[in-house]
Amino acid sequence: MTAKILDGRKLASEIRSEIKDRTILLKQRGVTPGLAVILVGEDPASKVYVGQKEKGCLEAGFASFLHRLPESTSQEELLALIERLNNDSNVHGILVQLPLPKQIDPDTVLAAILPEKDVDGFHPVNVGRLVTGLPACEPCTPKGIMRLLKSTGIPIAGKEAVIIGRSNIVGKPVALMLLAESATVTICHSRTEDLAGHARRADILVAAVGRPRFVTGDMVKEGAVVIDVGINRLEEGLVGDVDYEPAAERASWITPVPGGVGPMTIAMLLENTLEQAEKTASAAR
Ligand code: NDP
Repeated sequence: MTAKILDGRKLASEIRSEIKDRTILLKQRGVTPGLAVILVGEDPASKVYVGQKEKGCLEAGFASFLHRLPESTSQEELLALIERLNNDSNVHGILVQLPLPKQIDPDTVLAAILPEKDVDGFHPVNVGRLVTGLPACEPCTPKGIMRLLKSTGIPIAGKEAVIIGRSNIVGKPVALMLLAESATVTICHSRTEDLAGHARRADILVAAVGRPRFVTGDMVKEGAVVIDVGINRLEEGLVGDVDYEPAAERASWITPVPGGVGPMTIAMLLENTLEQAEKTASAAR
């Protein structure tokens, strides 16, 4: 079997075009979606991500409020800024770019964002809502993964889903979302025994490890849908967590890197911000 490509760039561009249309309608009702992005320090990868988010906002017709703070920023200063943004009615989404400098505790900072403005879906209230199946602001990368999976038309219910990685931003939430769609879910991590054996049983295999070409072709079940979340910067360029060519020989669908999950993450961030802005407009009626 040779896999069909799950084209995140194409799907994300369709979603972004819908977002643009909805934004025009919302602006006619007097509300411009606003996203505040806070970047603390000079991390090069973070700067790239923040630049992409700002560009995405402007293309969608949103207001973008970028706050660049020095590496030496104290936790109190950052919390004071978040407090201001929480109270600013022009701001519908607040995103603090991670990682933060070591003097700042990310958990304290993320918990300070109003849950309804937490467009990254990292606030404990939104995580709790996701766990219990209540409507939540869902984290962007897992939400994007689910959209990609659904775009294949393959039913998720009853399928064996194996996720490699248990981070709070990808592995755990995507596991919860797959469970909510009635997949049978296994989460693997660095202490998992016989990880390859688990992977080989997967109808849906999600790799979120952060290790280049970690998933080899022989770990992929014939006909599986393979979602590669990894972004590894090597001299040869960006490489995923999946050894693409041999995996694509066996999979039915596979996401490329770049051009798979990455573009979906930004599209979902814009969608989350727009949804919050739409809620504000409806509440003001
Ligand atoms: P983390 O480093 O937070 O988590 C990595 C996970 O992989 C951990 O649970 C770890 O296990 C597990 N792991 C590491 N090594 C092994 C191993 N040898 N065997 C089994 N499991 C292992 O990473 P993230 O979840 O934040 O990100 C994962 C990848 O996805 C990265 O490449 C990141 O850049 C990318 N990413 C891409 C996004 C996108 O938009 N496309 C968005 C977010 C991330 P343990 O918990 O036991 O340590």
